[in-house]
Amino acid sequence: MAEPLSGILVTGGAGFIGSAFVRSALARRPGARVVTLDALTYAGSTANLDGLDPDRHVFVEGDIRDGALVRQLLDEHAVGLVVHLAAESHVDRSITGPAAFVETNVLGTQTLLDASRAAWADAAGVRFHHVSTDEVYGDLGPDDPAFTEQTPYAPSSPYSASKAGSDHLVRAYARTYGLPVTITNCSNNYGPRQYPEKLIPVVIQRALDGEPIPVYGDGGNVRDWLFVGDHCDAIWAVVERGAVGETYNVGGNAEVDNLALVRALCAVMDDRRPEGAPHADLVEFVTDRPGHDRRYAVDTAKIEGLGWAPGQSLRSGLEATVDWYLGHQDWVAAVLPTEAS
Ligand code: NAD
Repeated sequence: MAEPLSGILVTGGAGFIGSAFVRSALARRPGARVVTLDALTYAGSTANLDGLDPDRHVFVEGDIRDGALVRQLLDEHAVGLVVHLAAESHVDRSITGPAAFVETNVLGTQTLLDASRAAWADAAGVRFHHVSTDEVYGDLGPDDPAFTEQTPYAPSSPYSASKAGSDHLVRAYARTYGLPVTITNCSNNYGPRQYPEKLIPVVIQRALDGEPIPVYGDGGNVRDWLFVGDHCDAIWAVVERGAVGETYNVGGNAEVDNLALVRALCAVMDDRRPEGAPHADLVEFVTDRPGHDRRYAVDTAKIEGLGWAPGQSLRSGLEATVDWYLGHQDWVAAVLPTEAS
């Protein structure tokens, strides 16, 4: 009988959520080899993978659009689980340069799906898990019910449109070819190693440096926030207990508007760095993002049915995140481009 396929391929594993997932995979599957495939765009860094056991973790610098490379990795490492996180992920960048989002998020996903289908023609017990966003559902009015898995797709930005396209392809490969897939659509993540262009790390860094803290529009845009470790646990819940072919929404049940979030972060900074208090005085309202979704909220009843619930409260998660960034300014310096580049 053929050996079971125990290898795990994590795409985008040198990014924010991907590197947290790689760590969780090594802890959760002690007998498994974990392979990270990452193109090391501006958002990826091997600094995110420092300290991992080289006997159990393999880092491969490469593009998910390279079908031959993906196929080689699937075969060479007996991969039975693909967790697909590689993406262009920043909404603002998708507004100024949408092409890269279509290339990586849509065409890259299709390349991975094709390679997995070919590699797994005769395999049992394999899984392709696709990590997506709640932004595919568009936005909500203040009193609308939260997004469920039945909410029709209505993406607003080139980022969310490209993620929606990738979700549709994943479902089509399940329906057309019988590829065993699962999908998670998650709300905003935060935590250690998030590239310092996203809201929470920007606020922490600006507060620390005593620089203006930009808040889009009136700061009233509402997001749901989930600690990155809770997101990794949710992915495992779906991979291990979810039904093949199904989609699960993931969220933190922590809805808050951007201004309140920024103020909460400033309050943690006031506690940790009292010499700069009150950090909220640094808030500066800036011109809103075009097409800015007003509110996202996620109904998590379906994934809760798998026994998953977020472990961190927003407050404990924000404190842990601030403390991580304050203790890892060397990481911030390592991942940000230098003035000359
Ligand atoms: P990130 O930008 O921090 O990391 C993305 C990683 O993908 C980087 O390491 C980058 O180098 C790599 N990558 C980009 N293009 C690639 C390519 N063509 N080939 C190989 N690697 C490539 O993103 P993140 O915030 O960690 O998000 C990971 C995934 O989770 C994405 O699919 C994103 O859509 C999804 N997601 C993110 C959030 C969030 O709040 N951050 C929420 C829900 C879903």
